[in-house]
Amino acid sequence: MSQAKTLPYRLASRQSRVESTVVRVGSHAIGDGEPTVIAGPCSVESREQILESAVQVQQAGAHMLRGGAFKPRSSPYAFQGLGETGLRYLAEAREQTGLPVVTEVMDIEHLPMVAHYVDVLQIGARNMQNYPLLKAVGQTTKPVILKRGLSATIEEWLLAAEYILSAGNPNVILCERGIRTFETATRNTLDLNAVPVVKHLSHLPILVDPSHGTGVARYVPAMSLAGLAAGADGLLLEVHPNPEKALSDGAQSLTPEEFRLLMRRVQTLMQAESAAVFAPTPMALRG
Ligand code: PEP
Ligand code: MN
Repeated sequence: MSQAKTLPYRLASRQSRVESTVVRVGSHAIGDGEPTVIAGPCSVESREQILESAVQVQQAGAHMLRGGAFKPRSSPYAFQGLGETGLRYLAEAREQTGLPVVTEVMDIEHLPMVAHYVDVLQIGARNMQNYPLLKAVGQTTKPVILKRGLSATIEEWLLAAEYILSAGNPNVILCERGIRTFETATRNTLDLNAVPVVKHLSHLPILVDPSHGTGVARYVPAMSLAGLAAGADGLLLEVHPNPEKALSDGAQSLTPEEFRLLMRRVQTLMQAESAAVFAPTPMALRG
């Protein structure tokens, strides 16, 4: 690395580990060069809804299923999630499809229960700087998807990852999900700069979440492809069997058919990428 100064996130930085980290979830690897696609509804709403979603995303080629059981909603009157019942449905969806399952853990109190049911823990954007929670997931061995905070700098985000790593859990996956800017045409501004910046500064894998990054389903395919073209290790996507009826984030959720078409485009993009010559470019030599 050519940086003269020592980066404050010692374990997360490429100065401490030049080789890119590959996080294993069962037999699946995140960060091994093939994009990982994690898809499913924002919230687990019912047994039927999550089982149907699981089958649909699997048939389209997703590698893991997502679904929130504990939801961080802006309004206390909005649907808060099914809690443990939702976790049970997720586990059942895994049994039926074999897909590993991902869900958000909102507080330390629920961590043992959530870790018992799911394969990957998600720390939501609103909790990126909940340091006791970061330390607690750091004491588990479960892979953790760490979403970028709504107004967090990349340095703050990598320092949040450092809390998990320094507590003993090396299985951290970063997720860019858009940041707050002055722009109101989209829910957030998906910061794709973060992809090459994080790849330069850190060895950790990074996913892109264009669903929360845009808030609008019609913009999701373009930003998914852009995220992968920028070098992301995968995508986190909201897909709902019937977005119009979704209890949360319907406007940004793809239909199963839209997801299937997007997966075809992802494959085409990756084939084009692998056909390119992987020689060090003058840019890469700049460090
Ligand atoms: C989610 O994944 O549904 C979610 C709440 O994401 P974020 O924490 O990025 O807002
Ligand atoms: Mn959501």
